[in-house]
Amino acid sequence: MTRDVVIIGAGQAGGRAAEALRKVGFDAPVFLVGEEDRPPYERPPLSKSVLTGKSDAGAAALFGPEFYDENRIELVIGTRVTRIDPAARKVELAGRAALSYGHLLICTGGRVRELDFADRRLSGLHYLRTAADAEALRDSMARAGRMVVVGGGFLGLEVAASARAFGIEVTVIEGAPHLLDRVLPPAIAERIAALHVRQGVTLRLGCPVVGIRAEGGAVTSVETADGRSVPADVVVVAAGIVPNVELAADAGLQIGNGVVVDEFCRTAAPGILAAGDVANHPNALLGRRLRLESWQNAQNQAIAAAKTIGGQGAPYAEIPWFWSDQYDMNIQVVSVPPATDATVLRGDPESGHFTCLSLFEGAVVGATAFNMGKEVRAARMLIEHRLHVAPAELADTSVRLRDIAEKHLAAVPADRASEMIR
Ligand SMILES: Cc1cc2nc3c(=O)[nH]c(=O)nc-3n(C[C@H](O)[C@H](O)[C@H](O)COP(=O)(O)OP(=O)(O)OC[C@H]3O[C@@H](n4cnc5c(N)ncnc54)[C@H](O)[C@@H]3O)c2cc1C
Repeated sequence: MTRDVVIIGAGQAGGRAAEALRKVGFDAPVFLVGEEDRPPYERPPLSKSVLTGKSDAGAAALFGPEFYDENRIELVIGTRVTRIDPAARKVELAGRAALSYGHLLICTGGRVRELDFADRRLSGLHYLRTAADAEALRDSMARAGRMVVVGGGFLGLEVAASARAFGIEVTVIEGAPHLLDRVLPPAIAERIAALHVRQGVTLRLGCPVVGIRAEGGAVTSVETADGRSVPADVVVVAAGIVPNVELAADAGLQIGNGVVVDEFCRTAAPGILAAGDVANHPNALLGRRLRLESWQNAQNQAIAAAKTIGGQGAPYAEIPWFWSDQYDMNIQVVSVPPATDATVLRGDPESGHFTCLSLFEGAVVGATAFNMGKEVRAARMLIEHRLHVAPAELADTSVRLRDIAEKHLAAVPADRASEMIR
């Protein structure tokens, strides 16, 4: 049987997995097959510096062009994988010969969730996932006076902030009663709402979008459930993603909010693994399964999958972390707890430098650092060990968060600490 590795999806996860395979000394052929017509790149700049014109989408390439030859990675771009045949250990490609695999790594990520009532081809209507999407939106923004962003998650808010840099009038419309409904408790999301309002963004919360109006094939306004209409020459829909599971589903793999894998990134099918935005995995640190859509997970889970393939596998589990840049605010989020019952404010929001800590039943379960990257490591320590710290102590900025975390970690009995780390 061949030892060849085929990676489906030449995005961040696919690219990092190919790199990691060589780093762990795996020497058989590696095929990296991607549908987009560009080599792997990172997406975070697309909603930030690419939209504001501070960088080019090309600058986000994962590797220089020499990387593929030097590492003997067969990069096949502009090509869709159309079928996985687990019994024959083969994948079929559109317009090319099929590839046999010893290991198959599914890194197909996700695609934008589209509005089912709006024609995607309307001029001025944009979605944002790929470099090509970002370039098209940037061009539209250069001519835009009024923009509506549909969806108040991190992506939509970054687009709003980028548009304000050009003086575009921006309205963000969100169906949930507060911004960032899926990731942050309301008390923290309100801080981000206030930031946007200060920057002149109009927020319409708790207000589902029900229609997009157009004239002559170009958008003119967005209709909301309360019967109102918001005029716009550019509409950006940022309503989340749908994981690309169809190939895996058709191959009979288990699906459940993503491709279901174990802590070694393996599906139940021999030789087939998955990583990145598409993978639903168990996290021993959090004690539950989740599917993450983040730079950190796309990179590190892909590396974990490559190690499994290379015979050096170790269980993958990290406290989730991601960041967002909006205006002059760097926001870093540590963990996405399913439930919280209190929020502690550490620092003065007026100063633009503060951290919000989320608690559940007395334990620190999440943190959001606003221009306070230096507190992220300590927050992670508190969360990873589910440390119980009194709110007043957490709020005391005269003591470094790191010192608070270390003090409480030292007080944890050794047997409990090792159990928690496991
Ligand atoms: C605009 C934007 C900004 C972001 N900003 C941040 C941020 O600030 N911080 C953060 O933590 N995360 C951010 N993210 C999220 C992060 O970029 C993603 O989590 C990451 O890109 C996921 O990587 P992936 O490789 O798993 O999936 P993807 O990036 O979706 O890549 C999957 C690739 O597989 C290809 N593919 C799919 N099906 C097939 C097929 N059948 N055949 C061949 N190829 C296929 C797709 O075309 C795609 O190129 C951002 C995402 C976007 C879109």
